Amino acid sequence: MKQIPTIGHFIDGDLLESGIGKQSVFNPALGEVESEVWLADTREVELAVSAAKTAAPAWADTAPLKRARILFRFKELIERHHDELAAAITRQHGKVFSDAKGEVSRGLEIVEFACGIPQLLKTSFTDNIGGGIDNWNLRQPLGVTVGITPFNFPFMVPMWMAPVALATGNTFILKPSERDPAPSLMVADLLKQAGLPDGVFNVLQGGKTVVDGLLQHPDVRAVSFVGSTPIAEYVYQTGAARKGAYPLRVQALGGAKNHLVVMPDANLEQAVDALMGAAYGSAGERCMAVSVAVAVGNAADRLVEALIPRVRKLKIANGMEQDVEMGPVITAEHKTRIEKYIEAGVQSGANLLVDGRGLRISGHESGFFLGGSLFDHVTPDMTIYQEEIFGPVLCVVRVPDLAAAIDLINAHELGNGVSLFTSDGNTSREFSRRVEVGMVGINVPIPVPMAWHSFGGWKRSMFGDVHAYGEEGVRFYTRYKSIMQRWPESLNKGAEFAMPTNK
Ligand code: NAD
Repeated sequence: MKQIPTIGHFIDGDLLESGIGKQSVFNPALGEVESEVWLADTREVELAVSAAKTAAPAWADTAPLKRARILFRFKELIERHHDELAAAITRQHGKVFSDAKGEVSRGLEIVEFACGIPQLLKTSFTDNIGGGIDNWNLRQPLGVTVGITPFNFPFMVPMWMAPVALATGNTFILKPSERDPAPSLMVADLLKQAGLPDGVFNVLQGGKTVVDGLLQHPDVRAVSFVGSTPIAEYVYQTGAARKGAYPLRVQALGGAKNHLVVMPDANLEQAVDALMGAAYGSAGERCMAVSVAVAVGNAADRLVEALIPRVRKLKIANGMEQDVEMGPVITAEHKTRIEKYIEAGVQSGANLLVDGRGLRISGHESGFFLGGSLFDHVTPDMTIYQEEIFGPVLCVVRVPDLAAAIDLINAHELGNGVSLFTSDGNTSREFSRRVEVGMVGINVPIPVPMAWHSFGGWKRSMFGDVHAYGEEGVRFYTRYKSIMQRWPESLNKGAEFAMPTNK
């Protein structure tokens, strides 16, 4: 019988295999169980928080430059193991290898950003605010912090959080998705090799039990969450309602329904290329995937005609094969869920121009594959327009003009990313200013901000105020403290009972 590897936790520098049970992890291209992951119980939660709490004071007292040097070594190790990390992503997630390599690169960029932490932690100082008094501020670490991450970027999303949390002097517990947990332990191993002290970075595998245990634990000071909107809202509200001396700081990034607007003056070829990559890349399982093409005026017929043959010709196979454009979706259940959305779209009267159901890949008959699907004449009242499908399904909505496109987008409850294809400067200016979405691309289909900017959506795509990584990330993982100081030589004699002011 084939031996199935098990994936455990990483607590206080050691691997631990225990919990309430194990769950199968699939290779979606083969449709086979490739490993089993332990699901932690409250006991493991306690062990991880305790390890992170014990390690916190010494790590917080480690000079920023020394913390940065460990991150520099971590960066070199990621570069050395780039292909290995990408292969693990493709094996458990299914995305094509070149895309998985891109994911590793985008995660690496945040590590590079965090290497600059000595500069980022510099604060402001005001000399002599009055009477020999100086005033300055500190940004101090919070203590034990937690990252809860989704299946669709098992390396990159943990890197949105951990490098910044660690660089700013916090300890960190990663709770990755139970559907593709392998990269989390590779990260733990590389950080250990880089010289990170035990207990500073920990991994807890599991699901709701672990999430609830971490949200309620009085020693956890901050939780970063990335996942679907219902769970993001739950995490935010549960975390915010926690009682105790330390209110829990929470940022919870949710789901998306990203629109790409094609104006009549857009370069059509570029717009079609952009839509193909952004709608069908990673089988549509990206939070910045484009799932709605908004065709303005007479752009619609030309756009749809150009898309149909391209969607039909998508190269779909095991992501480890050469020149593949799209791999499988994550699980058999998710595939069924997407198929149900396609059926609902047909039932509601949308025009299904390309039907991705029923695709069979030779040699991979049990894999969770779907072809690309394309709907035209989708309207805002349809479920396929309103809900996040998170699969290779593109909906075309036709609108008469730019104002109607902006109204459509602003009426949607999700506002993660959006993009506009046009050759007119004023159109793009108007659009960028008026659209109620957190991340905007002008002739850029997937506007994921670079590491030193920050990531986050608006409306029900994000709960909380502070976006992920970049300077916002530094703010999220630090507490602001103001210090006012004077020395005995400048002290006035006698008690003052009025509010101190500059006289
Ligand atoms: P998910 O919400 O199912 O899971 C996310 C995390 O929450 C996982 O770690 C999971 O174990 C945990 N979880 C799941 N159910 C839970 C429950 N009932 N209680 C507590 N914890 C629970 O999301 P997913 O399917 O892994 O990822 C896809 C979703 O994530 C999509 O909606 C996508 O748009 C979103 N996403 C958003 C961003 C962003 O930046 N806004 C980025 C990536 C993915």
